[in-house]
Amino acid sequence: MPIDPAAPYDDSNVFARILRGEIPSKKVYEDEFAFAFHDISPQAPVHLLVVPKGRYVSWDDFSAKASDAEIAGFVRAIGHVAREAGLVEPGYRMLANVGQHGHQEVPHLHVHLFGGRQFYEMVSPPR
Ligand code: AMP
Repeated sequence: MPIDPAAPYDDSNVFARILRGEIPSKKVYEDEFAFAFHDISPQAPVHLLVVPKGRYVSWDDFSAKASDAEIAGFVRAIGHVAREAGLVEPGYRMLANVGQHGHQEVPHLHVHLFGGRQFYEMVSPPR
């Protein structure tokens, strides 16, 4: 069920609980600004999620309210995770879903990193 990207941050969302260590995750990277882990339901041979540590519902929320340091730290962490996963030379796809039309399901900003195979269509056809 897509989330409302304009709703207040919900501290009970699953990624907030992962960040607090309340539920397990397969961590691949962590620093002051970001946390990265394997998607629980991978849609490619490599499917990683990178989340900011701050309480941001969506890309919209983050891009409007995060500090310059948080934005720089998050962007650098995404690049670092992709390089460490060996995704750069073969190439990869990164994606952030936002709200209803983006079909965002978890109300904590996350960037998907997909790799390990060739991708083609940029978006799914209309249903
Ligand atoms: P989105 O539709 O962009 O909000 O994507 C949410 C993603 O979170 C999906 O790819 C889910 O498979 C993934 N996900 C949900 N719960 C967990 C979890 N506990 N650990 C890792 N990934 C999760």
